[in-house]
Amino acid sequence: MRFVRFQKQDDLPRFGWLHEDKIGEIEGDLFGAYKRLKAEIPLKDARLLAPSTPSKIVCVGRNYVEHAKELGNEVPKVPLIFLKPPSSVIAPGEVILLPPQSAQIEHEAELVVVIGKRGRNVTTESARDLILGYTIGNDVTARDLQKTDGQWTRAKGFDTFCPFGPWIDTDFNPADALITCRVNGQMRQLASTRDMVFNIGVLIAYITSVMTLEPGDLIFTGTPAGVSQLNHGDTVEVEIDGLGLLSNPVKTGQ
Ligand code: ZN
Repeated sequence: MRFVRFQKQDDLPRFGWLHEDKIGEIEGDLFGAYKRLKAEIPLKDARLLAPSTPSKIVCVGRNYVEHAKELGNEVPKVPLIFLKPPSSVIAPGEVILLPPQSAQIEHEAELVVVIGKRGRNVTTESARDLILGYTIGNDVTARDLQKTDGQWTRAKGFDTFCPFGPWIDTDFNPADALITCRVNGQMRQLASTRDMVFNIGVLIAYITSVMTLEPGDLIFTGTPAGVSQLNHGDTVEVEIDGLGLLSNPVKTGQ
């Protein structure tokens, strides 16, 4: 099943489910009790929004060996986590703005876990119970500010630095999926999710030993090697086999 958040003209945003090229509304609470209404809204008549409204976005740094190496870093002994603010979220197709404070803004293609249930101190074995599904994310990063600041809040936290979508897929298997990033059609990142240092069960156990995960929260699971600069006028596409494609244009602005 694929869930979307969408808007028709000036209507309020709502959750829906996809059937071929049509959307059916979700009546009730996607994270609780709900009913799927008949899929009768053509996709072309709706604007897809980021498919969740997270209370927090937990990200994992250096979770692929080759990416840690390319930036001259060691692979961490335990997961390295940080947060992006919900204000950085944008929808598929929305513009990534390159702010004037940075001269080196880069893409990071990532598999994203969408949390379906509240959880704290969850074991690796039961971590799966917390997952609603998966989506595609781009952990846009001001690399120069990441280096100078030490703390990553600014480098990772600008408005528009968290595109994700286009939907939440509840059947996707994250064990060994190809993840790619293209800029203006040129391949920049290519890897398999099987190359993650810490798998999703380990990440959820580790994160929930620190903080409660809430329905709708996201976990960005780290980026593979090949991160590179984004420039005004670019289009950046993140694709995960079996999951879909996330595309965003890039412009200077703030
Ligand atoms: Zn990242």
